[in-house]
Amino acid sequence: MTDPIRPDLYQALLAKHGDRMPPESEVFLRRGWISLVDRLLTDIASEYPDARIVGLCGCGWLHIDTSLPADGRDWTRHVALDRWLQRYVTESLSTCECCGSRHGRDRGERRVVMCDECEDQKERCDAHG
Ligand SMILES: [Zn+2]
Repeated sequence: MTDPIRPDLYQALLAKHGDRMPPESEVFLRRGWISLVDRLLTDIASEYPDARIVGLCGCGWLHIDTSLPADGRDWTRHVALDRWLQRYVTESLSTCECCGSRHGRDRGERRVVMCDECEDQKERCDAHG
């Protein structure tokens, strides 16, 4: 199970992205994915300015819960948004949750993505969130 985001990391994202950040209680991420999420929030602001991210959870991969207002536009927009989000999900599958390197891989049962180096020094990673 992934831990809640470290409060100082949450505050840094909140300061940058304001109400585009989901509530702290809905964010379960380790520090290695912060820059991925930072990029996602920046990109979604220009690509889907009316979309809101309502939850983020690292659980084997990056789970992204969004809401898109039903404003009478074509429902296929939701499908397009889901597809658009896939690039971040795919990237999370190979991004180490601990150090952010691109050498992460799925650790099966534990449902975390980590590089070999961090896997060997798990305690260090856990201690620093
Ligand atoms: Zn790592």
